[in-house]
Amino acid sequence: MKPTGILGGTFDPVHCGHLRIALDALQMLDLQQVRLLPCQQSPLREAPHVSGAHRLAMLEAAIAGEPGLVADGRELRRAGRSFTVDTLHDLRADYPDASLCLIVGMDAFIDFASWKDWQQIFSLAHVLVVQRPGSELQFQDADLRREYEQRHCQQVSELGNETAGKIYLFEASRLEISATRIRALVAAGKSARYLLPDPVWEYIQQHGLYQ
Ligand code: ATP
Repeated sequence: MKPTGILGGTFDPVHCGHLRIALDALQMLDLQQVRLLPCQQSPLREAPHVSGAHRLAMLEAAIAGEPGLVADGRELRRAGRSFTVDTLHDLRADYPDASLCLIVGMDAFIDFASWKDWQQIFSLAHVLVVQRPGSELQFQDADLRREYEQRHCQQVSELGNETAGKIYLFEASRLEISATRIRALVAAGKSARYLLPDPVWEYIQQHGLYQ
């Protein structure tokens, strides 16, 4: 079976930058699906601006009609901060034999050694690092560098041979869109159209979010 991608985020709101990365991973790496998981509360950041129910509804509206992308609300059903390792244990219980691929940006991967039980993550999933064209991976943490050197694979086909444990870098163009900018536009009474799918923009207006 093809590997399953996992993309976590606050999605406050989901935008075309997130969706494009998910679709690039799906197509470029020939994944079965990419599951998008809104977090309850990121361990590293301030509380989201709108409820989990709104963020999940916007995500569902964004990916309607794109069968390879799936909204997964499991972190919202768990109280407290959303640690990736806990989510992966949960997913592993549902998909014991699947190759699971956690998608992380290069910025996030550089800090990976500060994540809860980060070494355990490699026993639960592969890690796909999204690299911007022309950028290089620089390590600050010696343990992470060692893991990378042992686990790095060159061929995407290797991800399907095992269910977890590899690190694969793939290049995707990052659109210059952030949820922060979208929230600021809405708060200033301006339009955020074209930065996010129309159904999400309509949902924001309908529910008066981010004003
Ligand atoms: P905020 O502006 O509130 O910080 P954000 O737009 O960065 O939010 P998150 O929900 O924090 O969105 O991002 C979830 C995941 O998507 C993270 O792994 C992040 O690196 C990635 N991501 C965010 N924006 C983009 C983008 N424009 N292109 C590609 N990946 C992105």
